[in-house]
Order: sequence, then structure tokens, then C-alpha cells
Amino acid sequence: MDPRALIDDWLREDDPEKLQELRERADRVRAERVGDEVHLRGLIDFGNLCRRNCLYCGLRAGNRELPRFRMSPEEILDCARAAADFGYGTVVLQAGEDETMSAAWLAEVIRGIKDRFALAVTISVGERPFEDYRKWREAGADRLLLKFETSDPELYARIHPAKPGLPTRIELLKAGREMGYEIGSGVMIGLPGQTYQSLADDLMLFHELDLDMIGSGPFIPNPDTPLGKEALANPPTDPDQVPASSEMTLKVIALTRLLCPQANLPATTALSTLEQGSYLQGLRAGANVIMPQVSPPRFRELYRIYPGAPPLAPEEVFRSVMRDLQAAGRRPGRGPGGRLREKPPA
Ligand code: SAH
Ligand code: SF4
Repeated sequence: MDPRALIDDWLREDDPEKLQELRERADRVRAERVGDEVHLRGLIDFGNLCRRNCLYCGLRAGNRELPRFRMSPEEILDCARAAADFGYGTVVLQAGEDETMSAAWLAEVIRGIKDRFALAVTISVGERPFEDYRKWREAGADRLLLKFETSDPELYARIHPAKPGLPTRIELLKAGREMGYEIGSGVMIGLPGQTYQSLADDLMLFHELDLDMIGSGPFIPNPDTPLGKEALANPPTDPDQVPASSEMTLKVIALTRLLCPQANLPATTALSTLEQGSYLQGLRAGANVIMPQVSPPRFRELYRIYPGAPPLAPEEVFRSVMRDLQAAGRRPGRGPGGRLREKPPA
């Protein structure tokens, strides 16, 4: 059977026993191919200024209600120090697509982190010219994270208005690999108009791009966005529509593990939002990465991509993540936790 049809069948499967078997199989493959360590990436949401108008995201430029911020380099370094103190091996610098942020400014921040701490640095700042990504790589950034959101070109064009003159996300991922970055991507699950077939194509594309990390989370409707408003007012009824549920997300994590056995797969923040802050189910379905927040709650409150529980202090997030690891019988990763290519861990 061709793999796409097989994936499509699994995505439509709703027998709880079969789904449990799928998650267990993915968990075994995870143990064999990437081991029991869970790599922890301290997430620094350092700014919410954004020039784009993605229809799904609360940071879109059109959302005039949201007070905007960008942390100072010192504030970002404080977050990186907290991440290092918690024993996290990586920090992820994530922000809106901020045109007032120069490439040189972010390069200095990256250098500041690399000079002071033994941390890998991932950047997740959207679509920027190739040259900017080259500068950040020269400054020491190790990984780039850019979700392609959906492989369906029509759906993507509808929800992610293009900005002429910028490279596409797929072009950036491919160029990033050439520059020596580890590359990460992912999709939203249950976007209105997303069909099982197109989600099966997303999974095939993960494999084709040979991604080093793959983070997929449920679409969470944000009432302050056009797509969220529409989804809440008229929930999609097409039988081919993928539900934006935890169960579907766990299925996608498990299938991704089977298709890309050595990729780093986070149990995403969006999944934990549906699971009352817990990463446990994700860890049991094939995930081997968690990205705990290290930004102070006063900034987190303004980084409102989608609605969720009030933000916790980084220490509380750390404790809660440690409880999840313990419940899953897993241990925190040591070192940067880069993508393994062949050798399974000892
Ligand atoms: N500006 C950067 C990084 C921040 S957005 C970028 O766009 O790449 C980070 C991710 O949040 C997006 O890639 C998207 O997958 C996710 N996201 C945005 N809105 C969401 C929503 N309503 N539900 C779930 N995830 C969402
Ligand atoms: Fe901006 Fe990223 Fe949100 Fe799009 S997804 S509006 S680029 S922060």
C-alpha cells in the first residue's frame, strides 16, 4: 500500500484500541532510536511586534487591541540564564515578524548568549531574507524553526497572506540546511478547511524534507483573529475536515515518529494547552522534546497567539515539566540535544 494512503487511513482511524497500539508502537520506536532523554528547550518569546496578518494568529498586525513589546537584550539574557540554571540545553528565541528588529540586533543577542552560556540557540522569527539567516548563523545560531503550517497551497494562501519579495518558508528551510542549521518545521492540526488528504501530504513532506525537528500542534481558535472568529461561529462540518483535537495531535505525533524515527519531536505548547498544561500524553506518543517557557509572565501575557490559561512563572513550569518526566519514566536530556543521525544513544 502506498504510504500516503496508509497515513490517510490512520488519520481516519477512530478505534481507541488501535490508536493506543499506534501510540505504543511510536513510543517503542522513540525509545530505540532517540532514547529516554527528553530534551528541554527554554522558550523565550521575546517580542510580539509583527508585520504579517496570518489569519490564525493573535499577534497579526491587524490585531490593534494587543499592546506590543520587544524585550531588551539584557532581558533576553536573563531568560537565557534562567534556562541554563534549570539545566535546559537550548534556548528558542521566538517572536513575531518584527520589521523594526534589525538582523544585526538579533545577531548581537545570539552572540551574547553563545559567549556566556553553553546553550544551543534556535531562532523562530518568521520569514526574513536569506542574508539575515546567514548573519544569525555566523553569530552562532544552531537551529532554525519555521513551520510550513500546511502543505496545501490553497489553504496556506488563504490563511497566510503572502508578502512579496520574501523567500517562502520551504525555501528558507532548504537554504537554512545549506547554511549549516538544523531545521525544524511543523503544521497546525485541524485548520478550518484542512482535509485528511492534505494532512497526509504534510506528513509526507516532513519525511521528504528530512527535518531535524517537527512540532505539530492543534489549531486553537483565537476570537481576536478572522480565522478563529469564523471557526467559533461556524464550526466546519465537512466529513473530510480534520478535527483540532488532542487525539488527532497525538496521532500525528505517533505517525511522525514512525515516518521520521530520529527527528526531535516536541510535545508542543499548543497540545499542552488542550491538556491542561500537561505534556505527558505527547511524551507517551513518540515525543522526545519539551519547550518550557522561560519568559516572565508579564511578557508571556502579551504573547497571545491563542487563548489559554494564565501564564505560570518559569520555576512553576520547570516543576510541572519535571513531574511529567517522572510520570513518563523519562529523564531530562543533557547537552544541546541535537538531531541524531545514525547511532542510537548508549
Ligand atoms: N512569527 C514566527 C514565530 C511565531 S508564531 C512565525 O510565524 O513563524 C509560532 C507558531 O504559532 C506558528 O508557526 C503557528 O504554527 C503557531 N500558531 C499561530 N496561531 C495559532 C493558533 N491559533 N493555534 C495554534 N497554533 C498557532
Ligand atoms: Fe506574525 Fe508569526 Fe503570528 Fe504570522 S504566525 S502573525 S508571522 S507571529
